[in-house]
Amino acid sequence: MKIAIMGAMPEELEPILKEVGSYKIVEYAGNKYYEAQYKGVDIVLAYSKIGKVFSTLTATTLIEHFGATKLLFSGVAGAISPELKVGDLIVATKLAQHDLDITAFGHPFGYVPEGAVYIESDEALRKIAQEVAADMQTPLKEGIIATGDQFVANEERKNWIGETFNADALEMEGASVGVVCDALDIPFCILRSISDAADMDASFSFDEFLETSALRSAEFIMKMVEKIEH
Ligand code: SAH
Repeated sequence: MKIAIMGAMPEELEPILKEVGSYKIVEYAGNKYYEAQYKGVDIVLAYSKIGKVFSTLTATTLIEHFGATKLLFSGVAGAISPELKVGDLIVATKLAQHDLDITAFGHPFGYVPEGAVYIESDEALRKIAQEVAADMQTPLKEGIIATGDQFVANEERKNWIGETFNADALEMEGASVGVVCDALDIPFCILRSISDAADMDASFSFDEFLETSALRSAEFIMKMVEKIEH
């Protein structure tokens, strides 16, 4: 077994690299990959750069080139659900692409022929996430995450995404990573800590809380790695 842990931005990966301590850096396909052992488990780490395209490339590389057999994503997100405040954790039950739109042909938002609006995450990994939450005595919300190539800083857009996809949080990589893992039959988990409320103050909130929220998510993900049977 080899567990891939990915983020989108350096700030999301740095706390994980720090915890892991020593690693081998391999450059591949315009990116750096970090191979290591953590508590007896083979792991491979990378941040993809922001958005659906880069995250697709990195998730595919982690699996096809580095041989990852499970994939965990750790990062930050904008909240849609009013229940979610800065720092809170959410694990995706399923994910959708909110900016995928061929509705002109009568299809629903987020759908293309031979695809599906929602990609389901792995139930066993979600269960492990709930166990970690119980151990750490930290609340963990399960909910739908919507992904798109936009930093949403607009109440109207955020509400539309919430209503259209029944989504609780939004970000820019989860659904694309999910599509890759689903197609390659690799169990995956998308964990996010809230950095902002996707409203007009989102960019300020993001800048202020990126580091602390990314750290919360990273700490949680490393506890999950310890609990995954190997
Ligand atoms: N500050 C960065 C850009 C961040 S883009 C820069 O200037 O380089 C936002 C990143 O955080 C994405 O990786 C996305 O997954 C997540 N995210 C957090 N809040 C978001 C929001 N409101 N809308 C979309 N993505 C968000």
